[in-house]
Amino acid sequence: MTTEQSAALFKRAQSVTPGGVNSPVRAFQAVGGTPRFMVRGEGAYLWDADGNRYVDLVSSWGPMIHGHAHPPIVEAVRNAAVSGLSFGTPTAGEIDLAEEIISRVEPVSAVRLVNSGTEATMSAIRLARGFTGRSRIVKFAGCYHGHVDALLAEAGSGVATFALPNSPGVTGAQAGDTIVLPYNDLAAVRATFAEHGDEIAAVITEAAPGNMGAVPPEPGFNEGLREITRQYGALLVMDEVMTGFRVSGAGWFAIDTVPGDLYTFGKVMSGGLPAAAFGGRADVMAHLAPAGPVYQAGTLSGNPVAVAAGLASLREATPDTYRQLNANATRLGAMMGAELTAAGVPHHVQFAGNLVSVFFTDTPVRNFAEAKASGTGRFPAFFHALLDGGVYAPPSAFEAWFVNAAMDDEAFEIISAAMPAAARAAAASEGAT
Ligand code: PLP
Repeated sequence: MTTEQSAALFKRAQSVTPGGVNSPVRAFQAVGGTPRFMVRGEGAYLWDADGNRYVDLVSSWGPMIHGHAHPPIVEAVRNAAVSGLSFGTPTAGEIDLAEEIISRVEPVSAVRLVNSGTEATMSAIRLARGFTGRSRIVKFAGCYHGHVDALLAEAGSGVATFALPNSPGVTGAQAGDTIVLPYNDLAAVRATFAEHGDEIAAVITEAAPGNMGAVPPEPGFNEGLREITRQYGALLVMDEVMTGFRVSGAGWFAIDTVPGDLYTFGKVMSGGLPAAAFGGRADVMAHLAPAGPVYQAGTLSGNPVAVAAGLASLREATPDTYRQLNANATRLGAMMGAELTAAGVPHHVQFAGNLVSVFFTDTPVRNFAEAKASGTGRFPAFFHALLDGGVYAPPSAFEAWFVNAAMDDEAFEIISAAMPAAARAAAASEGAT
């Protein structure tokens, strides 16, 4: 497989963009090698600048549930674009999209459209603080909520650890208002609320985490968060930027039915264009300007082209789409599992709905510490063998793999052909820990 064009583009990119990419994980730093510059996507496949074709198991980090360039979405974008790209005024499409979201996710009575998942979580946190008059936020280690200052903080160790800034540029004050706890540990949540309950505005959690790999909530965890936050008058913010409209028509909410006070959505609800949303209880949302005092705004929010793409994507997502996504995730996981077993590699394939990931350990991974302690050193060799076999997996051991509904038997044959060598590479990997 030649990668000359990608290598040349990466070199050019590095001279004008920090690290050569506009979002760090794209740079392949965790796996080494040349990031592939893609030029085209269609259905289950991507093509890079050198003409190589890949089965895409990243799906733009979630949104491409129908596969790439899905004709009805492309058509909707075309139609919207010819009518004008942005007006800075209200449009009917924004109402349609809001209604579509509200009709699907029962605890959501009102939504505000924004441009990215980061904006959605940032705004939800501000609103939670404005609504409760409290400043502290609880988040979980290994959950990612975008690059919001207050939410970049990561756990130290132990219960009720107060995080230090772990990205330069995040002030101590911002990080100090964030309490980072281990995931799936309700005792830690209870202890923190017992001590600081009247200072905590909200708990924010991925409804089912995919950002430390797929690490689903244990039975009762989300229910416990609901109960504790209610008891102390804090809000529960369910971050469904990744799971919303991907793991079911109503996201993770349809799977465990634990109602949040606020929800964040992104990526998937925009069909791959830049749009996102936050929403939830009507009384909380009524605190947003201009209805209420908590300020939040956006020049391009509710952009007509992005809204048209989102609406088309959601309307195309039928029960069949979700059946297909789930079946594809199961099939992928089984394939990985079988070949890793055959190669004698300790592994555990995990699912959060149709988000899949593999940890190189025999035991289930319940939290970030366990994810980090799994044999991540095997991942680069596994990843590169798949890539060489025409399979584009996420270039990091800590990311979920995203199937799409366009994957057909041919796509699975390519994965199946690539997997044995990848499993052997993982087995032989010197970096194994
Ligand atoms: N929340 C979750 C759960 C995410 O997975 C992400 C991104 O991956 C975000 C928030 C941030 O979204 P964006 O990258 O659109 O800012």
